Amino acid sequence: MNVTIKQMIETSLIDWEGKIVSTLYVPSCNFRCPYCYNCDLILYPENFPNIAQSEIDSFLLERKDFIDGICMSGGEPTLYPDLPTYFKKIRDKGHQDNSKKGETDNPDPGGRFRSGNQLPAQQG
Ligand code: SF4
Repeated sequence: MNVTIKQMIETSLIDWEGKIVSTLYVPSCNFRCPYCYNCDLILYPENFPNIAQSEIDSFLLERKDFIDGICMSGGEPTLYPDLPTYFKKIRDKGHQDNSKKGETDNPDPGGRFRSGNQLPAQQG
């Protein structure tokens, strides 16, 4: 499974309405918006170390009782063909997920993620 995580906001109250989430950031994007909110990560991903999945899993497991799920951002999460598999593994551990899209209209790699929409909690 190939999803690179470069940044993580451990606790976010604003990325998914009504939920407490951890937000994960992927480095890639196929756009170069002049107003990009995360241009350093998009243009110079090599400057950001990868976060090990074991570290993310451990964090989520320890906080399972009060973190409702994860939100994916970036960068453009739907550039990763393995994203549905990544989310399935998160779901299998009891968390919800939400691919927080930016301003793109990229094709949905797994038929599950829609531009600007939240992923329903039990979809899967
Ligand atoms: S789509 Fe989003 S992440 Fe990509 S360049 Fe534009 S603002 Fe940045």
